[in-house]
Amino acid sequence: MTKQEILETIELRQSTLKTWLSCPLMYKFRHIDKLEPAFRYPGTVHGSALHLVLSWLHEGLWNGDLRSLYTKALNYYLYESEEEHIPVRWGGDVEKEIEALKVNAVEILENYRSKEYNQNAIVLFSEVQFSVKILGNRFSGTIDQVRKNPDGTIELLDFKSSKMRPNQYAIPNDIQLTLYAYACKFGELLVDGIWVKPNMLVDSVGIYFLRAHEVYKRKVPGKEVGDEKGDPFFRTSKTIHDLRAFRTEIRHQLSAMVKPWYYPNTASCAFCSYTAHCIGRNDKLPTDQAEEAQELLAQLNMT
Ligand code: SF4
Repeated sequence: MTKQEILETIELRQSTLKTWLSCPLMYKFRHIDKLEPAFRYPGTVHGSALHLVLSWLHEGLWNGDLRSLYTKALNYYLYESEEEHIPVRWGGDVEKEIEALKVNAVEILENYRSKEYNQNAIVLFSEVQFSVKILGNRFSGTIDQVRKNPDGTIELLDFKSSKMRPNQYAIPNDIQLTLYAYACKFGELLVDGIWVKPNMLVDSVGIYFLRAHEVYKRKVPGKEVGDEKGDPFFRTSKTIHDLRAFRTEIRHQLSAMVKPWYYPNTASCAFCSYTAHCIGRNDKLPTDQAEEAQELLAQLNMT
């Protein structure tokens, strides 16, 4: 594939960048070869459902029944979304796991809702699509939330529900967060079906770590049973100079993304849903020879 063909094949979404940064080989499978992941993790579906409930809360359902809202959102991602045909890799008893997800969701959402900083925030945009051109290439994706805080500051937030606590030192270099801030300043947002240009330089960007609202079930040093796990905010700021410099960074990333070779990042393999595709790769063989070898192995029942 030529660079131009690769550029025409991939969609420049924030998820494409995310996959590229996680593992270039996974990016090839997902965004160039258009292969689907073999499975979905329950945690990923859980995160999507939590995002959906948070957007509903801020769209008028603030006092809604959290368990019912979460169940509705979870069922959507399990049975109705575009990915519903991709199996979920449940660990054991599905009913018990779903119940555990519901209990966890209610705990997180109740504590989210109990905070004055969330009650008093004015949400300007929630789960809003963006589109922005950077050096001739159009990037798109979804911003989780842009809010006006009670002190008047405008804050852009990306909700995270993975178990691993974000690393505060990595936040200033987070490409996705910078892309969102860039889109608010130089791009367009789809609001009620109309593309608008907010031309907004946000005061801060950051990750809102939802698992910080989980509570300790056992006493640990410095914390009592029932205490929440910590502060959910991991913030940084982006000046106009940072956003301009970001164009150069995007150019570098993009020029690497369209080169037709892809380095496996084996640090991500333990969690990868492309292992089935990846296990058969051989970077040193031309594709036709690799396919021939695969066929021979298949005839010998060795694949
Ligand atoms: S199995 Fe590892 S190297 Fe292969 S695509 Fe997944 S993360 Fe990348």
